[in-house]
Amino acid sequence: MQIKLEGLERTYTGTASAGDVHAVQQVSLLIPSNTIFGIIGKSGAGKSTLVRLISLLEKPDAGSIFYDGERVDNLTGQKLIQRRRRAGMIFQNFNLFSSRTAGRNIAYPMEICGMPKARIQERTQELLELVGLADRGDAPVSTLSGGQKQRVAIARALANNPDVLFCDEATSALDPQTTRAILELIRQIQKKMQLTVVMITHQMEVVRDACDEVAVLDAGRVVEQGPVSQIFSAPQAAVTRDFISNLAPMTADDDGTVTHRQGMVRWSAEGGRYILHFIGSMTGEPVLSNMAKRFDVSFNIRAGGIQLLPEQQVGTMIIDIAGDEAETANALAYLRSQGVAVEETKQ
Ligand code: ADP
Ligand code: MG
Repeated sequence: MQIKLEGLERTYTGTASAGDVHAVQQVSLLIPSNTIFGIIGKSGAGKSTLVRLISLLEKPDAGSIFYDGERVDNLTGQKLIQRRRRAGMIFQNFNLFSSRTAGRNIAYPMEICGMPKARIQERTQELLELVGLADRGDAPVSTLSGGQKQRVAIARALANNPDVLFCDEATSALDPQTTRAILELIRQIQKKMQLTVVMITHQMEVVRDACDEVAVLDAGRVVEQGPVSQIFSAPQAAVTRDFISNLAPMTADDDGTVTHRQGMVRWSAEGGRYILHFIGSMTGEPVLSNMAKRFDVSFNIRAGGIQLLPEQQVGTMIIDIAGDEAETANALAYLRSQGVAVEETKQ
C-alpha cells in the first residue's frame, strides 16, 4: 500500500508554564508501496507523533493522509475501525499481555474480530511458525527473552493480514545481535507479504540494515529524504551527518587517544581529520591518487572499512591531507565533486 502525506501538522497545547509543542510541522512524504521506509530522528523529533498520525490513531490539526490514493485521515466510526484493523503495529516495549501465553497474545486481535476458535488456533500456529517460535505457543510471556517477545508482537501485528506495518523503535530495547535478527525477520516478512513497512527509529544501524528509503525528521520537520544509499553517500543535513558519524563511533582508549572506529581497520594510531564515504562500486584509491596528482597535496590513510547496506556497500576511509590551506580546500572540493561524502572531524 502506498501512503501519501500532505502538509501534516500537529501541535500539543501547552500549559501556562510550558508553551505549545509543534510536534509535527508541514510533513509531506510519499511512502511507496511494498518497501521498508525509515523515519529517523533524535528523541523528541516528533517520530511517535508522526506515526500516530499516519496510523490514524491520532488526527492531524491540518493536512491530509492518503492510502493508495484514498483519503483516510477524515474516516470515522466503523470505517475508521475497519481501516485501523488492517494496520499492524509494534513498539519498543512490546505491549504484550503478560498474563497471557505467547499464543493467546497472538490470538487476541482475532478474538476481537470474532474469528471462529478453530481458525484462530490454526492461524496462531501459522504465525508462530512464521516468526520462528513454533514450539513456544504455550509459553507465558514472562518466560520469553526480549527478542522472543518482539517476535510474538510481530506475529500478533500480522494476525489480521495487514497491508501496512508500523514499527515504532521496535528494536531499541534489544541488543545489537537480536536487533539484526529481528530486522532480518521484518525484511523477510515484508517480502513475503508484500507489506509497506514504516520503520521509526533513532538508530542509523536500523536504517542501514533494514530500510530502502529514509526520511530524516528534525524538530518536527522532514529535513532530508531519499534512498538509503544516497543518504549515506551524500548526507546533506547536519543532523543526518551526525547520525552517520555516530554509526561507527570513534572510541577512545584508556589513555584518551582515539585509535579505532567500530568495524574499521586502523593502521595508524594518530590523525584522521577527514572521514570519506564511498558508495557502491566506487573505489577509494583511484579517486585519492587522482586528487594527489591534480592538487599539490599528499594524503595518508589512517583507517578503512566497509559498511553493508541492504543493496550495496559504503566504504569508509579516514585520512589526513597534507598541503597548504587553499590546495587542501581544492582537493576536498574535488573529492566531493567525485561523489565522495567528506566529513571533517575536530582533530
Ligand atoms: P519522538 O518519538 O521523536 O521522541 P514525540 O513524537 O514523542 O517524539 O514527541 C515530539 C514532541 O511532542 C515532544 O516535545 C513531546 O514532548 C511532545 N508530545 C508528544 N506527545 C505529546 C502529548 N500527548 N501531549 C503533549 N506533548 C506531547
Ligand atoms: Mg518516540
